[in-house]
Amino acid sequence: MAANNQSEIPSKIIAKDQSDLIAWYLANRRELPWRKDKNPYRIWISEVMLQQTTVTAVIPFYEKFMSRFPSLESLASAQENEVLEYWAGLGYYSRARNLHKSAIRLAVSGFHQTAAELLELPGFGPYTSRAVSSLAFGEHVGVLDGNVIRVLSRRYGLKLNWWNSKEKDILQKISDALAQTLQNSEVNQGMMEMGATVCTPKKPLCLMCPWKNRCIALKENLIEQLPAPKPRAEFEIWQCNFQPHIKKGQIYLTPFEGPFLKNTLFPESQVEKLKKKPKTYDFKHGVTKYDLFISISKPATKTPKGGQWVNLSEIKKSNPTSLMTKILKFAENSATIKE
Ligand code: SF4
Repeated sequence: MAANNQSEIPSKIIAKDQSDLIAWYLANRRELPWRKDKNPYRIWISEVMLQQTTVTAVIPFYEKFMSRFPSLESLASAQENEVLEYWAGLGYYSRARNLHKSAIRLAVSGFHQTAAELLELPGFGPYTSRAVSSLAFGEHVGVLDGNVIRVLSRRYGLKLNWWNSKEKDILQKISDALAQTLQNSEVNQGMMEMGATVCTPKKPLCLMCPWKNRCIALKENLIEQLPAPKPRAEFEIWQCNFQPHIKKGQIYLTPFEGPFLKNTLFPESQVEKLKKKPKTYDFKHGVTKYDLFISISKPATKTPKGGQWVNLSEIKKSNPTSLMTKILKFAENSATIKE
């Protein structure tokens, strides 16, 4: 059978794939700190962190975060600045802010147990909601992230435009069908684990795969073509002029109005979207699809408004981002902007 868009997988095939996957997962699973029990809080934090980077890179961040915020209540009662400080290095600070907002709500209501309820909370997308509800509470819902999209597309030979919601839904339904078992947590974790360790983007280790005897991509030599590559998002060019007021060991910060890190505290700035790269700038900073061309200059006014003075020695509590570090480094080396 060639690559196709068939979404109905016969139940006999689903049942065989479930049992092979569960057996493989139980024999091959990695011992990870968040797999010690079915604690929803610990699972949730790990899933949000894992959206940013690999398991190996996440473990030290996770351990440090858990030693400071060991429970939902401890996270809910913390100040946002401190949560951001413990998130430093993972990037995507809006995720840490949402984590904190949701912790405050869950500490009052108790942990929601279904994906539909979790989806209502800040920062809980379809993947995180389903991962937490199935891994912690055994809800029969399948997960679908980049790893699972790859595994399912190859196993069932599906060449889909998976970035379109209608076509993604075909994969979601297959994942849901696979999760209809008492061991649905093992099925979901098995697919994630397979995607991370066996069915990797390049050179998958098919000999170790529980589905190797029935995999369409392997049989039809379609591994390199599946899943279909997502078209690249168009880059946006932004110009940003920061004007740091630095005085007596303090810096004045106001909420940022750029295309990302919105409302994070930064020095006063003017931000503008451009059609092409500016002729002059001090340095470039890239985040996801944004190319930010930064210039640093002397403040236009002596008395800034709309923000707050922050001690430079405690800047990481207000803004732990790498962009802030670059701005300060530049400012420190520039005699023109120091008072
Ligand atoms: S046989 Fe290979 S390509 Fe197919 S699902 Fe397994 S690892 Fe992926």
